[in-house]
Amino acid sequence: MQHFTDEFIQAIPKTDLHVHLDGSLRISTLIDLAARAGISLPATDEAGLRKLIFKDSYRNLEEYPAGFADTTAVLRSRDALYRVAYELFMDNAAEGVRYIEVRFAPQLLMSEQLSFQQVMEAVDQGLRDARDELNRQKPRDEPEYDYGIIACAMRFFTADFSPYYRDYSRMHEFSSPTEIISGASLELAKAVVQLRAHTSIQIVGFDLAGAEYGYPASDHQASYELVEKGFLHKTVHAGEAFGPESIFQAVTKLQADRIGHGLHLFDTNLIHSSHEQDPETYVTELVNYIANRRITVEVCLTSNMQTTPDLKTLADHSFRRMLEQKLSVTLCTDNRLVSNTSICKEYRLALDNFPISPHDLKNIIAYGFKRSFYYHPYPQKRAWVRSVLNYYDQLAQKFGIKE
Ligand SMILES: [Zn+2]
Repeated sequence: MQHFTDEFIQAIPKTDLHVHLDGSLRISTLIDLAARAGISLPATDEAGLRKLIFKDSYRNLEEYPAGFADTTAVLRSRDALYRVAYELFMDNAAEGVRYIEVRFAPQLLMSEQLSFQQVMEAVDQGLRDARDELNRQKPRDEPEYDYGIIACAMRFFTADFSPYYRDYSRMHEFSSPTEIISGASLELAKAVVQLRAHTSIQIVGFDLAGAEYGYPASDHQASYELVEKGFLHKTVHAGEAFGPESIFQAVTKLQADRIGHGLHLFDTNLIHSSHEQDPETYVTELVNYIANRRITVEVCLTSNMQTTPDLKTLADHSFRRMLEQKLSVTLCTDNRLVSNTSICKEYRLALDNFPISPHDLKNIIAYGFKRSFYYHPYPQKRAWVRSVLNYYDQLAQKFGIKE
């Protein structure tokens, strides 16, 4: 098996298609923003925060999001959003990432002082300024930097998640919790479609995030139908805390182009309802369906290890079977701060723990670019992907990597 050096991993053009803005701040920026806004954090220095909230491992998927209450609290201003978006792109570029697709739930960040459009404009401007600066500075023969934004609806929230959700819940006091969740999701879908139609903000997709267990994708079917009419792309967090049926819902009910995590895709023991097929056949057919449509799985290794206590070693991660089944997969960080990771770390982990040939690695890289929700017209996307792969080949040759 060919060894891939850290220098090679760093140099090759990469994507991060699954990275949460509010989970990926620099820790120093979080502390600084909190101080400026007069918001108190559970600790005032990096070591303290790492000990209390941004840990190396979490007890479960429920403990993992605790830190988001702090990060979203400091992000509710245009300056803060601009800054973290700009820094996120710069930190990624320093690792050789050429394209990021940044996601977040706008309704967690909106307030009376900050409208949906202002949130989106601030993030877009931060990413845009970083991209333009990077493109001006890069050598001419290297591929261009670019970005997209994905808006996340929440599978679950309560009134205390944000000022917006508080107001929304208060205004719908006669609605059930499910109706409130579906309603806020549909409102976001409308906002996203209008933003896409009337601005040049690089909004490219819609996502469903948050607690999966007990909060089915079907509550968001109307939202996904609406964003499809607006020609936006669709991804769904699925199979992270729930089994194959959740992934089935994402790809059939919500017509997802990509799946966030997909960790439990092969877990027949997590099938709860009865189906036409026996569990083994159900999973085989589902995997085939996903493979044939090139529905891409956004794999987040570190994050899954941290939130899934049953997953004892990385070698047991379903990424192995995804590779065996020739699925379209891309490596992502999920949350750089909350998971204490980076894209180069994720590649190192993947290459050290799974049988990945030079050919496989190039495919994984290519899927990231090809299956991105690239904002610009398709001919431009084709030329850009071609330039990325040519550049990859040059680097592979330079580093003596043989396919
Ligand atoms: Zn995620």
